[in-house]
Amino acid sequence: MREILIVGGGYAGFYTAWGLEKSLRAGEARVTIVDPRPYMTYQPFLPEVAAGSVEARHAAVSMRRHLRRTRVIAGSAVDISHARRVVTVRPVRGEDFTLGYDVLVITAGAVTRTLPVPGLAEQAIGLKHVEEAVAVRDRLMTAFDEAATLPPGPERRKLLTVVFVGGGFSGVEGFGELLSLATAMLRSYPELDLGDLSFHLVEARGRILPEVSDGPGAWVVRSLERRGGHVHLNTRLTSARDGHVVLSDGQEFDAELIVWTAGNASNPVVHNHTDLPLDERGLIVVRPDLRVEAHGKPLLDAWAAGDDAAVPDLASPVPGARTVPNAQHAVRQGRLLARNIAASLHGREPRDYRHSSLGVVATLGLGRGIFQYHGLVVRGLPAWLMHRGYHVLAVPTWERKVRVLAGWLGAAFFGRDLVSLASVQHPRDAFVSGGDARRPGDRAGEPAGPAGAGAGARAGTAAGGGGGAGGGLAGLSAEPAGQGVVPAGEGVPPGLPGPGGDTAA
Ligand SMILES: Cc1cc2nc3c(=O)[nH]c(=O)nc-3n(C[C@H](O)[C@H](O)[C@H](O)COP(=O)(O)OP(=O)(O)OC[C@H]3O[C@@H](n4cnc5c(N)ncnc54)[C@H](O)[C@@H]3O)c2cc1C
Repeated sequence: MREILIVGGGYAGFYTAWGLEKSLRAGEARVTIVDPRPYMTYQPFLPEVAAGSVEARHAAVSMRRHLRRTRVIAGSAVDISHARRVVTVRPVRGEDFTLGYDVLVITAGAVTRTLPVPGLAEQAIGLKHVEEAVAVRDRLMTAFDEAATLPPGPERRKLLTVVFVGGGFSGVEGFGELLSLATAMLRSYPELDLGDLSFHLVEARGRILPEVSDGPGAWVVRSLERRGGHVHLNTRLTSARDGHVVLSDGQEFDAELIVWTAGNASNPVVHNHTDLPLDERGLIVVRPDLRVEAHGKPLLDAWAAGDDAAVPDLASPVPGARTVPNAQHAVRQGRLLARNIAASLHGREPRDYRHSSLGVVATLGLGRGIFQYHGLVVRGLPAWLMHRGYHVLAVPTWERKVRVLAGWLGAAFFGRDLVSLASVQHPRDAFVSGGDARRPGDRAGEPAGPAGAGAGARAGTAAGGGGGAGGGLAGLSAEPAGQGVVPAGEGVPPGLPGPGGDTAA
C-alpha cells in the first residue's frame, strides 16, 4: 500500500485529505496528515471569533471527526528530506521520530511575518490562530471591566486603546469587527463613552485592502473613520516598547492591545529545512498541475499547494504571475491536488490549476461590509450579508455550517455575548486563593484590592503582573509556541492564553 504524507492540515491539506478519501480505491494508499493542531482553522472566521459573533470552536474543523480514513498525527514536521523520502516529526509531546512516505504533499501554509520593531515581540499578538482571536476578544473585554472602575486619566485611556498594524484583509476585518464590538459594549458600560475609545489602524502603504480597487478602499477608510477609528496611512509602527506605541508620523500613545497583521512569511520548515526547490520568497516551486518542479521538470512524488507554494496563475493575463495567498485558491488547489494524486496513481495525467477570482468580500463589523467583483462594488449591509452567506456555505462540513448559523441566529435574537473568559487561563486561582481577593503583593492586614479589579485583573496579576489595570499585555508568560505557529523567538504576550488555550467565550 502506498503511503501519502500530507504536511499541514489547514485549508489545502484538509481538502487534499478529504478529496483523497473520496477518490482513492480501498486499500490503494494510506493517507497521513501531520499538523500540530488536529483541526483545520477556518481563518476567515477569526475576526468574528474576536468579536464573539462566531464561537471559537466553530472556526476549528476537527480532522479526527471529519477525516475518518486519514491517520492524524499531532506534531510539526521539522525536517523534510525528499531525497530520502523521510519527514522528521516533532510530536506535541515526546521525542522526534521519522515517517517514510511514497508521496509527499506540502501544505504547511505561511506564518505571520514580524519585523524587528522594539517591544513588538513582547507586546503584540497575531490574528492567524483561534487562540489569538479568543485572546484579543478576552483582552478587550477585560480592559473594559478594568477601565470602568478607574477615573478618567492615562491609565484608563491606555486600557481602551487598541492598535492594529497592517491594513490587509485580516487587519481591516479584525479592526472593523473589534471596533464594532467595543462600540456595542458601551451600552452595557455606562461608566464609559465613545470618546474613551481609541482605535488605530496603521498601514505602511498609502491605502488599505490591496485586494479591492482605490475607490472602494478609500470608502472603507472613510467608513472606519466615521465610526471613530483612526486610520494612519503611509505610517509604520516604530516602537511598541512597554505598550508605548510610537508611529512614524510622530504620534505616540500607550496601548493595551497591539494586534500585528502586517503580512505573511514563508513557513520556516519550508524555507529552512527541506531539500525541495524554493523561489526567491521561500515558497515551493510548483508546476500548474501542483507537482513540485526542479530544473524545469516535475519532481517525482512531491506536490505542494496553498500559501507555502508558488503556483502559476494561469487565469492571470500577467506572464509569470503566481496565485495570491488566499483561501479561495487554497481550497481549490487542495481539491485538485487530491484528484491529481489519484489520477497519477491510476496512470492518468494530472490537470492544471486554473481559477478566476470570485471577487473579494470583507466584513467591517456587524452589519457592515464591502464586496467587489471587477467593476461591481457592494457596500454596507448587503455586502455584509454576502460575506456571511459566502462563508457559511464555504466552511467545510454541514455540521460546522449548522453550528455557525445557529450561533448567528442566537445572537440576532439575544445580542452579543459580553463575557471575558480570560480567567480560564488561570483556572486554579479561585481554588488556591480560597476567595481571598487580595493581590499577591498585598501585605498582611491591608485592605483587600478594589472589588472592581475582578476576575480579569486578578488573572493578569496571577500570570505575572502585566494583565492588571494599566499593566498592558507585557510581563506575562512567554511560553514558546510550536514551530510554524508563532515566529521563532516570539513568546505568548502576557495576559494572553498560551497555545492550546480553550477559552471560547
Ligand atoms: C484573519 C484572516 C482572515 C482571512 N480571511 C480570508 C478571506 O476572507 N478570504 C480568503 O480567501 N482568505 C482569507 N484568509 C487567508 C486564508 O485563510 C489563507 O490563505 C489560507 O488559510 C491558506 O491555506 P493553507 O492551507 O495554505 O494554509 P493554512 O490554512 O494556514 O494551513 C497551514 C497548516 O499547516 C500547519 N503547519 C504549519 N507548520 C507546520 C509544520 N511544520 N508541520 C506540520 N504542519 C504545519 C498549520 O498548523 C496549519 O494547520 C484569511 C486569513 C486570516 C489570517
